[in-house]
Amino acid sequence: VDALVAAARGDGVGQAPAQRRTDPWPNDPYPSGTGVGERYQALRALLSGELSPRDVVATLSESGLRGMGGAGFPTGKKWELVAGTDDPVKYAICNADESEPGTFKDRQILADQPHLVLEGLLLGMAVVGAELGYVFIRHEYGPEERVLRAEIDALRAAGVVGPDACGSGRRLDLEIFVSPGGYILGEETALLECMEGHRGEPRNKPPFPGNYGLHGRPTLINSVETFADVPVILRRGAQWWTTQGLGDSVGWKFFAVSGHVTSPGVYCVPMGTTVRALIDLAGGVEGGKAVGAVQPGGASSNFIGPDQLDLELDFGTLAKAGTMLGSGALVVLAEGTDLLAAATNVLRFFRNESCGKCVPCRVGSTKAHTLLRDQLDTGSSTLDDAQRAQVLRLEEAMRKTSICGLGQVALGPVVSVLGLDKGGAAARPQPRPGGAKEQPGR
Ligand code: NAD
Ligand code: SF4
Repeated sequence: VDALVAAARGDGVGQAPAQRRTDPWPNDPYPSGTGVGERYQALRALLSGELSPRDVVATLSESGLRGMGGAGFPTGKKWELVAGTDDPVKYAICNADESEPGTFKDRQILADQPHLVLEGLLLGMAVVGAELGYVFIRHEYGPEERVLRAEIDALRAAGVVGPDACGSGRRLDLEIFVSPGGYILGEETALLECMEGHRGEPRNKPPFPGNYGLHGRPTLINSVETFADVPVILRRGAQWWTTQGLGDSVGWKFFAVSGHVTSPGVYCVPMGTTVRALIDLAGGVEGGKAVGAVQPGGASSNFIGPDQLDLELDFGTLAKAGTMLGSGALVVLAEGTDLLAAATNVLRFFRNESCGKCVPCRVGSTKAHTLLRDQLDTGSSTLDDAQRAQVLRLEEAMRKTSICGLGQVALGPVVSVLGLDKGGAAARPQPRPGGAKEQPGR
């Protein structure tokens, strides 16, 4: 289990990016082989006045695009909120500090589509009124950082960014901020604290960064995939985007698939693809085994059972099923895997990565992990009623009182496994207010 989780978490961190599994990527509006001169067309249209900031926000809202970092906040609404703040200094930040165990799809997007990520970030800056934009990148993503730096150099040389971006008279500039490391820095307010030179601990929200962000200024923060989706939607149209998903879902979605599958890697599929279809795309379970359980949205998401493989991968369906789309990371465990041991390993990760700022998370994660580890050390993977009750009490306390998502969801996967081992959907936890929440919007 350790090896499995380590493999899922790191996916060869510091080595070559995960192998491309969908070739070519179906979303890119720019023909492959084109350069800065042919790309960045949505940005040029905005800076020339052909498109207005209001048009951009309306198109994003119409498209139904939601934040792909995990929480699914409506993107058009977020851009509108930041654009509407009255402050002469604003910032935009692309959160490329992807660190959720099993999650490596942003890494592939940065490697293959840096032009879409940067165009989305520049569009965000121009729409909300920020002159300076940052990419906050995970420090292990060295190859991707170099790709980004080369693209930014090319943008500067072509005059797309700089004191007179695209000849518009507006200053737009980009900087890369390399994360000093630590999972919690991917939480947007810990990220801001870190960039300000403080200890990287989450702030209480609200206020949200859109109102009070970097140096107290309104700050637009989106993830890599969200920013990359923006020029795709502006070039191809909101209508096109909404027709790309399956059923009621919209758009394309990148997933990192790992665990006991034959071909782990990054896949780009229509939103609404079923869990089963994505596992099949990844070659099915290794050795022809059956699925034991799946985490559909990274380590923070509740496990689902083999009877739930026909669930559609979209925000609403997974939230209703008591789990979440989360960070776009499908971790597959084959039948016969010790699920309690796997979930305890996930909890160990969260215990280790807890920043310690609030007591419920710091103490609760240690207490729960000690209980589970001691039980597993006896050779048993089941809990008696008193142990179950204690785990459930700790989960409730952490979920309701932790400051940030880490503490709120740390015990969710363990509790979901306890539901699975009791058997049947009725035993499964219901959607949790702090974790698998359904956001407004499509
Ligand atoms: P959140 O719901 O607090 O916020 C989501 C986004 O919407 C934030 O940018 C927030 O500022 C904004 N927002 C929310 N309500 C707002 C409001 N009323 N006004 C203005 N802006 C508002 O969620 P979160 O804690 O930022 O993120 C949790 C998610 O992160 C989890 O679902 C998890 O899947 C994901 N996650 C991803 C990774 C990764 O490596 N990609 C790692 C850990 C967690
Ligand atoms: Fe830190 Fe955990 Fe509290 Fe988040 S929930 S602020 S990680 S101690």
